[in-house]
Amino acid sequence: MAKKQFQAESKRLLEMMINSIYTQKEIFLRELISNASDAIDKMYYKALTDESIRFEKDDYYIKVETNKDARTLTLIDTGIGMTKDELESHLGTIAKSGSLAFKKETELKDGHDIIGQFGVGFYSAFMVADRVTVISKALGSDEAYKWESDGEDGYTIEPAEKETFGTKIILTIKENTEDESFDEYLEEYRIKAIIKKYSDFIRYPIKMDITERTPKEDSENEWDEFTEEKTVNSMVPIWRKNKSELTNEDYENFYKEKHYGFDTPLKHIHLSVDGAVRYNSILYIPESMPYDYYTKEYEKGLELYSNGVLIMNKCSDLLPDYFSFVKGMVDSEDLSLNISREILQHDRQLKMIAKNIKSKIKSQLQSLLKEEREKYEQFYNSFGRQLKYGVYSDFGSNKELLQDLLMFYSSKEKKLVTLDEYVSRMPEDQPYIYYASGESHDRIEKLPQIEVVTDKGYEILYFTDDVDEFAIKMLTNYQEKEFKSVSSGDLGISEDEQEQAEAKAEDNKELFDKMQTILAGKVKNVKVSKRLKTHPVCLSTEGEVSIEMEKILKAMPD
Ligand code: ADP
Ligand code: MG
Repeated sequence: MAKKQFQAESKRLLEMMINSIYTQKEIFLRELISNASDAIDKMYYKALTDESIRFEKDDYYIKVETNKDARTLTLIDTGIGMTKDELESHLGTIAKSGSLAFKKETELKDGHDIIGQFGVGFYSAFMVADRVTVISKALGSDEAYKWESDGEDGYTIEPAEKETFGTKIILTIKENTEDESFDEYLEEYRIKAIIKKYSDFIRYPIKMDITERTPKEDSENEWDEFTEEKTVNSMVPIWRKNKSELTNEDYENFYKEKHYGFDTPLKHIHLSVDGAVRYNSILYIPESMPYDYYTKEYEKGLELYSNGVLIMNKCSDLLPDYFSFVKGMVDSEDLSLNISREILQHDRQLKMIAKNIKSKIKSQLQSLLKEEREKYEQFYNSFGRQLKYGVYSDFGSNKELLQDLLMFYSSKEKKLVTLDEYVSRMPEDQPYIYYASGESHDRIEKLPQIEVVTDKGYEILYFTDDVDEFAIKMLTNYQEKEFKSVSSGDLGISEDEQEQAEAKAEDNKELFDKMQTILAGKVKNVKVSKRLKTHPVCLSTEGEVSIEMEKILKAMPD
């Protein structure tokens, strides 16, 4: 039978898997079980929404078997199965599911990183197996097929026998090498422990034949053995569990299992709401930015479950854009299973949930800011820009919600400060909240205009992000203090010098006129400035648009 080759990308990934030095090889089981669970989800959903499919809850399970003699580890699921075409397209190529949208060739070089960062899915089986056999029968099909590969040079597909719908995956476990043991993946207790660790909350039973050994009566060396099929996982979805029963590690494992991100989340939020609308939700604030976060490709949204059944992978209506970095899921009994995307958009329950979630995220971010400043700054460095966009894009209507979450670099503190901190430090005579825009802190510190302000002992906020000044313009003020750019015409400082300046202007009229003629078309006006100390000259704007903003506006496509 002719062997088919893997697609180039898949091939590289496979090589990486095979030669992986990744320490946590055990996660392959999490990946395979999560695929099995996804497949049963699909089956379950079909059964619930299609009356022609018989529905027995007991029919849905995952079975894991070890066989030391044959060196195999087998996973059987009663999910939706795969057709011949699906075996080919889903296992012969890297799934498009975003798990492996590699950006750069170089990122592939260091396998260590990739596996840590990406959900590698099915292929992770090759970290522990030198052959993988998949026998599957798709729902509604009469034929079963066998897909087989030793990873290195392609795969084969041929007809096979299988009675029931679903998928059976047989891993032929690698032989021990000098520095690595693979035998552990044939040990029942070890497999059981891995399932407990990563897949405890999977909603379907994960069954194993567990052998119990008890010492024979009147003998120390002989044992009674009996084997019984047992469900290894607790099956209670993590979001239905009591917060007090769960550890940080449980939440982190769930985050990883679900591929919400490839980092370790900074914070989780577990909500069990039992009010006008009932729902459970687990939300995460990621630690670092997904590689595609500030691109068009990034899709925000939360997983949406109706009473434990997944109905949507990324429900975007649950999150406002400014919180688009939040990951997680929502499960509500009050949503209908057959709900479509269009209906969902107008669903009252969903709107209430979204509103509720929004305010919870806000208050959690605020407490992070208060209690774990360092973590908050880490968060802010990744996602602060999104909050500022939020202030800017909703014409200030998010002002109340977001203004206390903003931070800017301070001339005084030499670190990020909140607006509240700034205002509470303001000397009584300081009329405005001052800011300076520029490409970098360095550049800003060289601005001639800042001297007058810092000399007065006033603090300046440094705006280095394009969006900063736009966002501030939307806020207009904070705690009734207006924002003022150090490059704007009137700084509200040295009022008494006004007259003097005017006199000087009069005295030097000729010089200024001359300068203006020379610089015609480049500047609008040449005047005496009362905003300079040691520097002889500076550029400034009239009106509300600063030089920095002008630059950005000019660079924007029409
Ligand atoms: P992902 O789960 O992120 O899509 P995987 O590499 O884990 O990526 O799996 C690739 C695809 O193979 C899945 O999306 C699914 O369509 C299919 N698949 C894998 N395992 C099973 C299974 N046990 N039953 C049905 N389909 C499966
Ligand atoms: Mg998967």
